[in-house]
Amino acid sequence: MAATIAFIGLGNMGGPMARNLLKAGCKVQVFDINTEAARQLESDGAVAARSLKDAVAGADTVMTMLPAGQHVRQVYLGPKGRPEDGLFAMVSPGTFLIDSSTIDPATAKEVADHAADHQLEFVDAPVSGGVAGAEAGTLTFIVGGTDSAFRQAEAVLRHVGKNIFHAGPAGAGQMAKICNNLMLAVQMAGACEALNLGIENGLDPKVLSDIMLQSSGRNWVLELYNPCPGVLENAPASKGYQPGFMSKLMLKDLGLGMDAALLSQTAVPMGSLARNLYALHNAKGNELRDFSSLFELYQRQQ
Ligand code: NAD
Repeated sequence: MAATIAFIGLGNMGGPMARNLLKAGCKVQVFDINTEAARQLESDGAVAARSLKDAVAGADTVMTMLPAGQHVRQVYLGPKGRPEDGLFAMVSPGTFLIDSSTIDPATAKEVADHAADHQLEFVDAPVSGGVAGAEAGTLTFIVGGTDSAFRQAEAVLRHVGKNIFHAGPAGAGQMAKICNNLMLAVQMAGACEALNLGIENGLDPKVLSDIMLQSSGRNWVLELYNPCPGVLENAPASKGYQPGFMSKLMLKDLGLGMDAALLSQTAVPMGSLARNLYALHNAKGNELRDFSSLFELYQRQQ
């Protein structure tokens, strides 16, 4: 029998992930507080639920793809003082729970502990690969949880991802994802800086990008996500910086990196600078634009 999956949070990432589960033949029951997001998936064959409770009814797996830790806490544990409105009070025994949002490891561990109290299996399984990866079903999943939960997660996640890693126990998926995004932000800032320096000194950004792609400056940003408009046809930079991955989410992830650094007394000078660059950029009204719009912070005003 095909799996029945409840998918909660149908934004830039969740929408295409739910679509790929449908393509794989799963029955998918979707819910988002933005009812339009759920409605849009109906034509792909999803059942648009009116409430969280309706979405999880009869599901053997629940996947969540929410903005931040506070949303994950609210969905799983219910709003403050209302545990009856949380997922744990609604799902049937044996339901498998996967959270793919990027959140702080402490909240991921807390939700995992609550799951254990309810005799439920839960994994944190944040993703890398962006909207393009979500659409193509080529996401990288970084899973934190027990060995048995990881094996169970793999069976579902292979419908939406290509590489599925077991980072360690509960919360380890989030920690690895936070490290990855700190590096991504540093790479993005570096790419913006180098490309702008080249342009200011008479270089063509496309030619410069081609050169760096075959040289030691090569990285994921240059390859797939060039921040300079017109260099890569399909990158958000060439589409008015439509997200993609919103600048506010990158700032959130860098904040998670700073929290982890404080906790472990670890030096993160580049990550700290990148966090401040994004805080400045977002303060200028760029929160909802793609994170590659950081390029504009470097550009000379015309
Ligand atoms: P998004 O803001 O586009 O989508 C989040 C969705 O969750 C929205 O549709 C929102 O209405 C819904 N939501 C919020 N609270 C809810 C609730 N209580 N119940 C039901 N739905 C609720 O964000 P996104 O870009 O899809 O990112 C989701 C997560 O994935 C974030 O944690 C982000 O950091 C991470 N992520 C994003 C990307 C990317 O490229 N966009 C890549 C990797 C990881």
